[in-house]
Amino acid sequence: MPENILILGGTAEAARLARAAHETLSGRARIVVSLAGRTRAPASLPVETRSGGFGGAAGLADYLRAEKIALLVDATHPFAARMSANARIACAAANVPRLQLVRPAWTIPKLARVTWAANLGEAANLLPDMSQAAFLAVGGRGMAAFETIETVRLVARMVEMPDEKPANIEVVLGRPPFTGDSERALCERRKVETLVARASGGAAGLAKIEAARDLKLSILLVRRPDPEPGECVDSVEAARAWIENR
Ligand code: NAP
Repeated sequence: MPENILILGGTAEAARLARAAHETLSGRARIVVSLAGRTRAPASLPVETRSGGFGGAAGLADYLRAEKIALLVDATHPFAARMSANARIACAAANVPRLQLVRPAWTIPKLARVTWAANLGEAANLLPDMSQAAFLAVGGRGMAAFETIETVRLVARMVEMPDEKPANIEVVLGRPPFTGDSERALCERRKVETLVARASGGAAGLAKIEAARDLKLSILLVRRPDPEPGECVDSVEAARAWIENR
């Protein structure tokens, strides 16, 4: 049984994996969850946490060696592509087995009016021709791509009020998971015409797509990056089994 396990987190899946691994391995392994440090009040966990960047792939490799990490599970958000690439490079350098936990991609519901964009910049270019009022479900750092849009009323949802935000975007607060009912209510209240979202995948995030479909809104979706090469599972249970079987 490995002694030190590092989970790259910042997601609900990482928190669930940390809790599950803690239940099974408590006393037999040290589990550390790493957070980027962007959320002021992250969910509390029964395991050790650390916060802040490692200093690129080289910094992470140093950390893996210094902390004698035996296994790494990359359970970051599907759009946290830089962290996942760094994890792949660092684990190869430090010879640490790595697993990616990537939530299942969405099957887009029938009748949903979806336009695909390759990235947030392309979504921002397409939006003014589609709509006069949009709901941006693009994360805090995603808002910047929309800051020069003047002809569309923009509402973004965030877990916490950001220290700074573009003047043209109204922020509403909300912490996932969201239900279809609450997503429909938000879109109706704000008279939203277009939902802009990243195709993150996972059951929880699909509620807003289904709500937009039900309300016949246009949906502008940013394709998610491919996972890094290497071992990959799509459920917390499979990740827990991978840890236990090493
Ligand atoms: P990113 O662009 O891939 O990462 C940028 C840098 O942030 C990384 O190079 C790393 O800095 C640091 N970092 C990212 N995740 C980290 C972690 N778990 N522990 C320690 N350092 C981390 O990532 P991002 O999109 O900014 O996301 C940041 C975090 O928020 C991730 O942990 C992710 O799981 C979570 N999150 C992201 C989204 C999203 O939409 N992207 C949504 C929900 C949650 P160094 O190079 O200095 O090591």
